[in-house]
Amino acid sequence: AVGYCSYLAWTICSTEEKPKPVTPAAEKKNLVVLGTGWGSVSFLKDLDIDNYNVFVISPRNYFLFTPLLPSCTTGLVEGHSLMEPIRNFFKGKSAVEFYEAEATEVDPERRVVHIKRNHTIQGEVAQSVIPYDMLVVGVGADNATFNVPGVEEHSCFLKNANDAQKIRNRITDCIETALCKGRSSDEIQKLLHFVVVGGGPTGVEFAAELQDYYKDGLRDRFPDIMDAFRITLIEALPNVLPMFSKQLMDYTESTLKAEAINVLTKASVKEVSKDDIRVEVTKPDGTKDIQTIPYGLLVWATGNKQKGIIENLAMRLNKQQDSRRGLVVDGCLAVQGAHNIWALGDCANSKLPPTAQVAHQQGSYLANVFNAMARTPSSGGPEVQPFDYNHQGALAYIGMDKAVADLNLLGFNISSHGFFTFLFWKAAYLNMCLSARSRFLVTTDWMKARVFGRDMFR
Ligand code: FAD
Ligand code: NAD
Repeated sequence: AVGYCSYLAWTICSTEEKPKPVTPAAEKKNLVVLGTGWGSVSFLKDLDIDNYNVFVISPRNYFLFTPLLPSCTTGLVEGHSLMEPIRNFFKGKSAVEFYEAEATEVDPERRVVHIKRNHTIQGEVAQSVIPYDMLVVGVGADNATFNVPGVEEHSCFLKNANDAQKIRNRITDCIETALCKGRSSDEIQKLLHFVVVGGGPTGVEFAAELQDYYKDGLRDRFPDIMDAFRITLIEALPNVLPMFSKQLMDYTESTLKAEAINVLTKASVKEVSKDDIRVEVTKPDGTKDIQTIPYGLLVWATGNKQKGIIENLAMRLNKQQDSRRGLVVDGCLAVQGAHNIWALGDCANSKLPPTAQVAHQQGSYLANVFNAMARTPSSGGPEVQPFDYNHQGALAYIGMDKAVADLNLLGFNISSHGFFTFLFWKAAYLNMCLSARSRFLVTTDWMKARVFGRDMFR
């Protein structure tokens, strides 16, 4: 019996461990992947890497878990907890090379990518050219400013880890300056006025985190100045969180108001200066009024615009491209008018919203396409089904341990809000973390903040 069992175990193991045929390195195609965000990392995680010579290029040598970035601005979660070193995703895979550099240009005629690396200490700039047989573009997007004067110079964005750290520094700076001896009451009012432009999920979640920070620590720690603490959220449309159902939009607005956040809707920021912003507010009778609002910190969260490298590539390709909304792709994410270039995530114009959910699913889908292509002989290629997006819903944190959710469960739309939705939000985001390390660190940060409060230093 023992012998039979050993034989059975050996048979099972040997079927499972049967080596896959590996293409010799010289015959493998050069696959260049741009970016280490949601789209590219999901692609790399599911790609059968041994089938290609893979070159990954990104100015960030880590993946960033963006959904919890607003929590980093107030010390609830540490930036490093949301970062996963990119090389951790392909440990032990010799067929992958990572270059921490920025792709500056894609030349589709010569099939090369130009890259540039700035050496932070010596200030040197190293430039080189990487040839590709196949190119996957997942460089994300930049912040939209709609050419409003002064935005680039005077406001903070909230797109990456440096932005979150910059906001955290500025909050501390405003508080410490307000606490400094000899500040007039007008100065303190201005320093402690935090203005957020854009009532999409980024703006709402940041405003909510900041208000929590005030209630969880600032209010009691600095009672002398905290009467002056104010948050104003400015949105051009009639409602905040316009992508949620009407019921959840109204619930969010009333919750934010109950938290003493001043919500200004139908208000469009026209100009930003060092000390104040000029806002055009539409009054209930339809007339317009220009208001000047002083601020200590201004956070600008008005959505995405395409990166220069994408606009440049779109212009080099044919007229099917629209450089404003990203690279136009077909149903299988192949870039229209290009040969052997695919795009995914925020830089792709696939008529889907620019979310992590979309980029993640596109990355996994494209990896399966590439795995199938490697299995099929070059003539003809495999039958590829177009990308089919599975919308699982939208979630947003709105402060005071409350969240809103528009979920799509088994084809049913379910709207929910409040404390239990907040618990669901926490569980869902922990589950979305791409590594056990990140999951562990985020949980620890949450526990640490509950027990000891948030860290109030830069
Ligand atoms: P990104 O994740 O932005 O990655 C782009 C990558 O390209 C980065 O690694 C970058 O360094 C690299 N790169 C940039 N320029 C170059 C270049 N020239 N050459 C090479 N590499 C380059 N979505 C949700 O679904 N749920 C959420 O809860 C959610 N919360 C969010 C919260 C915040 C604060 C923000 C800002 C976004 C949030 N999103 C959320 C949206 C989501 O983060 C994006 O849609 C998603 O990151 C897009 O993935 P991507 O791979 O296209 O781009
Ligand atoms: P967004 O495009 O969703 O919202 C930007 C808002 O800014 C819009 O409502 C717009 O009307 C407003 N706006 C634009 N110009 C303005 C001006 N001059 N003055 C006042 N308001 C102005 O942008 P976002 O919130 O940065 O989100 C970007 C993407 O990331 C979206 O696809 C979003 O769904 C996704 N995201 C999702 C989550 C989540 O699911 N929890 C969180 C953050 C971001």
